[in-house]
Amino acid sequence: MQTLTNEQVHYAMSGENKPFIHVESGELFCVRTKDCYSDKLQSAQDKFTKEMWDTVNPATGPVYVNGAKAGDILRVDIEQISTRDWAVMCVENGSGALASHIDGIETTILPIKNGLLIIDEHLSVPVKPMIGVIGTAPAGECILNGTPGEHGGNMDCKEIVSGTSLYLPVSVEGGLLALGDIHAVMGDGEVCICGAEVAGEVLRRARRICAELPTPCLEPDESIIFIASALTLDECERKVLDKAHTFLIDTLNLSANEAARVMSLIGELGICQVVDPLKTMKFMIPKTVLEAYSQVVSLTELFGAPG
Ligand code: CA
Ligand code: ZN
Repeated sequence: MQTLTNEQVHYAMSGENKPFIHVESGELFCVRTKDCYSDKLQSAQDKFTKEMWDTVNPATGPVYVNGAKAGDILRVDIEQISTRDWAVMCVENGSGALASHIDGIETTILPIKNGLLIIDEHLSVPVKPMIGVIGTAPAGECILNGTPGEHGGNMDCKEIVSGTSLYLPVSVEGGLLALGDIHAVMGDGEVCICGAEVAGEVLRRARRICAELPTPCLEPDESIIFIASALTLDECERKVLDKAHTFLIDTLNLSANEAARVMSLIGELGICQVVDPLKTMKFMIPKTVLEAYSQVVSLTELFGAPG
């Protein structure tokens, strides 16, 4: 299996990045990642310094998917995410939604044992590894890995876990897929600016599909989740609702009013993160909607076999 090492990284998604590997559509490959601090914070004594901003959010890649061309969509199947056995968090009073509640700068190491993240002597929670940064190269100017957008990027959506498929746009030849910033655990909002940051390894496949589907879009077992990013939560909300509405009308042939009613009754609007340069929201529609209106049970079935 082709494997990318955690040294094969970049800090901005761009059509200019030279791919480290080429994969066939559907080929399984492995990506090793550093944590969002480039593995530079190893103990509570290590402090985040200004110089480290240049190397935050390394994304491993890019990967060139043979045959993918602008206008296609990549379906990225996340087969497995494994992590090291400790996580790190770094908070400071200068950043994040909770910044004014934070006293100074502090690095904390959180052990991971038997599938649990040990927050302190009182509280441990099950590990649910998720990918914070994952995207394709944008068509125009490069986008720093810390910023989310229509290409994916730093969406910090905690539903991007193993067993899900993420649909991303292809804007340049080969797609140029990259990922990093794995979190062992993160809550909706990522309110103090970080999750339980870990280095790790992801097994995945990327398939090229031709479909009309608003992206980024995630397919867990039971639902479809549309994702959008913008400067304010108000804008995010409009954008993500537009995507879901467009999908229901264009793909499932509902009228505008039917789609709006379904969204209002069984959709779930939520926040991915409020701490990155753009904020990110998600809108979840249960898959029962697919079955009800098009007699299929998955997007894969709806769009046919990947090309
Ligand atoms: Ca992140
Ligand atoms: Zn992170």
